[in-house]
Amino acid sequence: MNKRRLVVANWKMYIDSPESARRFATALRKKSRLYKGVDVVLAPAFPLLAVVAEKLKGSVIRLGAQTISEFEDAPHTGDVSAAMLKHAGVSFVIVGHSERRAQNETDAAVHAQLERALLGGLSAILCVGEKERDVAGSHFSLIESQLAVLKNLPHKAVSKIIVAYEPVWAIGKTSAEAMKGSDLREMSIFIKKTLAEQFDRVAALKVPILYGGSVEPGNAHSLMAEGDINGFLVGHASAEIDQFLDILKAIR
Ligand code: PEP
Repeated sequence: MNKRRLVVANWKMYIDSPESARRFATALRKKSRLYKGVDVVLAPAFPLLAVVAEKLKGSVIRLGAQTISEFEDAPHTGDVSAAMLKHAGVSFVIVGHSERRAQNETDAAVHAQLERALLGGLSAILCVGEKERDVAGSHFSLIESQLAVLKNLPHKAVSKIIVAYEPVWAIGKTSAEAMKGSDLREMSIFIKKTLAEQFDRVAALKVPILYGGSVEPGNAHSLMAEGDINGFLVGHASAEIDQFLDILKAIR
């Protein structure tokens, strides 16, 4: 395993106070020798970005945001723009998470968010994933259509894109209910093939592919070893420092 690995902690609203965010970031920094070779991004909720940025100053751990406005600037009450995220020290942003798509975030909105993120100099983690599977394999065409939001983005933008494959049926469960490595491998090959049809083939093959959906210490190693992926987008297990460190250790 010699490819660079990336693990993104999607804290959602699990870590919800400045004290717990500071405690987590400090503990993670202290243990960095345990996960040498793994790039780590912490994605707290907006109000916690500043405290986490402060604690990560001078470290190799990067800051991420959980979403971004599809608009450039005012007037959009409640939105947070790419420029605002950049000022806050953010370098990665998650777009198209299934929990946001469930609140009516459309592919058109996801495309606009991607554009805003890339124009604003951020790396974008595009989430795709089917709600359920059937024997006819309709999940493949769904993933293909979700990846189509990448069409018409400048070709050089491809170096700032990360695809997170997150089957909705596997999110928020336990490692026993998560996807198996062999099924993941099939999907990750499909995603690479689809990207290669949209972009320059060499560049497309460099797009990191993450898996998300009940990654825990118990399944991290096998998913990484069998899934043909570059890392993980982790939800619930990323909010517990010991579990998160165990995941990082399992794939270093
Ligand atoms: C997610 O929602 O991005 C996620 C991966 O969640 P969990 O790890 O809790 O399944």
